[in-house]
Amino acid sequence: MIVKSLFLDNFRNHRDTKIDFSDRFNIIYGNNGQGKTNILEAIYLCASGRSHRTSKDNELVMFNSDYFNINTQVFNNGLERNINIKYLNNQKRQIKINEIPIKKIGSLMGNLYAVLFSPEDLSIIKQGPGERRRFVDITLSQIKPTYFYNLQSLSKILKQRNILLKNLYSKSELVDTIDIWNYKLAEVAANIIIERRKFSEALSEFAQNQHKYISNNSEIITFNYECNFNYQNSDNKTEIMNIYLKLLEKSLNRDISLGYTSIGPHRDDYDILINNKSLKLYGSQGQQRSSVLSIKIAEIELINKETGQYPILLLDDVMSELDENRQKYLMESIKYVQTFITCTNDSKFKNILNNSARYFLIESGS
Ligand code: ATP
Ligand code: MG
Repeated sequence: MIVKSLFLDNFRNHRDTKIDFSDRFNIIYGNNGQGKTNILEAIYLCASGRSHRTSKDNELVMFNSDYFNINTQVFNNGLERNINIKYLNNQKRQIKINEIPIKKIGSLMGNLYAVLFSPEDLSIIKQGPGERRRFVDITLSQIKPTYFYNLQSLSKILKQRNILLKNLYSKSELVDTIDIWNYKLAEVAANIIIERRKFSEALSEFAQNQHKYISNNSEIITFNYECNFNYQNSDNKTEIMNIYLKLLEKSLNRDISLGYTSIGPHRDDYDILINNKSLKLYGSQGQQRSSVLSIKIAEIELINKETGQYPILLLDDVMSELDENRQKYLMESIKYVQTFITCTNDSKFKNILNNSARYFLIESGS
């Protein structure tokens, strides 16, 4: 997959930026605060429908303006595609693929696969379950639009069910209606659980292969799915639904007093282990960094396995954080991947990369 060009109009500090990219390496360099990450953010938005920094579109609009417009030209399986995202303050974002407006954001997925790697990705290891769910959800949504739709349904159903739980506190006669929501919830939950487990198994296998090299065969990394309830490792939808439905029934009184749904995939987690020990609790700084690198390279391989295509890779400020061995290792692993690298100093790359790279100096959003 290749991004040929990008046009930014009033996006963050880019008033009118047009870039034609190299098919291989793109070095986006310049001083701090000039608008390098903003470029990666725009590309990532076209791939995943989300910014990695904010969920609010109005923050992406240039100060004192009332809209932004992004245009990317993408080559996907030999086909050329134009992805256009437009946002006018306080209106819904409009997305067009080849000039045709899409009705659901899920239709954006699959037009451009991207893996983003930034220093903040350490939070996949260091922070709480929400960060790990977010990581898996974004990757899985890119690969499987149905997963994305299930996630959307999950959040809508939970909202409705939680409203009902709060009403039940004072109006117990509504209790019969909870069954309908439990059933809907169990159905999407089972779909999500099956996909999360499959994803974790595949990612774990790829990461293990990667990590062997980085650690000189001394470390085994595992990425385990930790479902919020014991689903008995079933991969049968009806079975998982039945287990979950029973638990929902059992916890109803507690849920009513809490005013929210206390059990379910919205509280799932993933356990990342090195040699069977929690990486979060026992891993050194270096082990944690190397593990994120293994997981990110695994993500590239997994997208390739699932879709038959290599994603593009966005490296935001990570090269300077990796030692030389790991930099070399990363470069070797991304032979087939169009790569975008932001950094403050381009001179180092001039030595590593040959003329397959293009260099872009960014100053004040230009
Ligand atoms: P660093 O090297 O520090 O990571 P960078 O070049 O990656 O810097 P970006 O994060 O891309 O910097 O851009 C930051 C700049 O964009 C800041 O100067 C910020 O004020 C500006 N900026 C952010 N949002 C907006 C916006 N909505 N409108 C205008 N400017 C914005
Ligand atoms: Mg930056």
